[in-house]
Amino acid sequence: MKMDKETFDSYVNAGRIAANARDYGAGLIKVGASLLEVTDKIEKKIIELGGEFAFPPQISLNDIAAHFYPSDDDKTVFKEGDVVKLDVGVHVNGCVGDTAVTIVLGNDPKLNLLEEASREALSSALKIIKPGVTLSEIGRTIHDEITKRGFSPVRNLSGHGLDRFVIHDTPSIPNFDTGSQEQLEEDQVIAIEPFASTGAGIIYESSNPTLFSLIEKKPTRSPITREVLRDLEQYNDLPFAMRWVAKKHGPGKASFALRDLRHANALREYPPLPDKAHGLVSQAEHTVIVRDKPVITTLSQQD
Ligand code: MN
Ligand code: MN
Repeated sequence: MKMDKETFDSYVNAGRIAANARDYGAGLIKVGASLLEVTDKIEKKIIELGGEFAFPPQISLNDIAAHFYPSDDDKTVFKEGDVVKLDVGVHVNGCVGDTAVTIVLGNDPKLNLLEEASREALSSALKIIKPGVTLSEIGRTIHDEITKRGFSPVRNLSGHGLDRFVIHDTPSIPNFDTGSQEQLEEDQVIAIEPFASTGAGIIYESSNPTLFSLIEKKPTRSPITREVLRDLEQYNDLPFAMRWVAKKHGPGKASFALRDLRHANALREYPPLPDKAHGLVSQAEHTVIVRDKPVITTLSQQD
């Protein structure tokens, strides 16, 4: 389906802001820096640049592939040898830019190679993106770049389509060759996100999620829950952080309301996703509008 100009401009703007916040955040991730403080600064930057959150910016360390977001008492400080994934999602009028980068702290050649594997897998995949390319070809390209460096692609995480206020739409863009002959179409918006692992290449859902999204507004008797629920409407069913709710309503009300909503199955939960064998994981991600000359919306300014 052909994209109108307003939509195209919104995707480009969201991508530019996401890339800007990603690069700014990557520059703050240094040995001795606090994960919580870096998270706060990235959030401020996104707002300053005029973006809205497509999801809370996530900083996932080492064997955690994705979905780590700190609670208010998080004490994590970056240290030598950390493999740090920063994943940023911004929307403008619901149009999403989704992008991630890996920062390796220190100078371990094997970890640098791990970072290179996901980055080069993304770069090679982007080179073949055009209408008509099959999901099988994309997956094979990603798989080959990662395995030739001696690592495993994470097979149960994948890229995805994007739509207005939808961060995980069809098609699912695999990180290995699934054999799928489904083809990309003109003006589809997709995020490509290879993950490379030194371990199993399979992640699992751990516990204690700090990220949620609203599935449906179930009626509730509690005035506290009702108050929080009214506030959650601002996120348009996109993921939000427990910490955002606590900041606004206080930690007591926030945890009460979220527990209430979880019991009512009104929330989707996004727990941290570690590698099954606790190998180290790297990730790279860009958002791209599929065309004969694809538009990568989340490129760095200097690229
Ligand atoms: Mn992402
Ligand atoms: Mn994504």
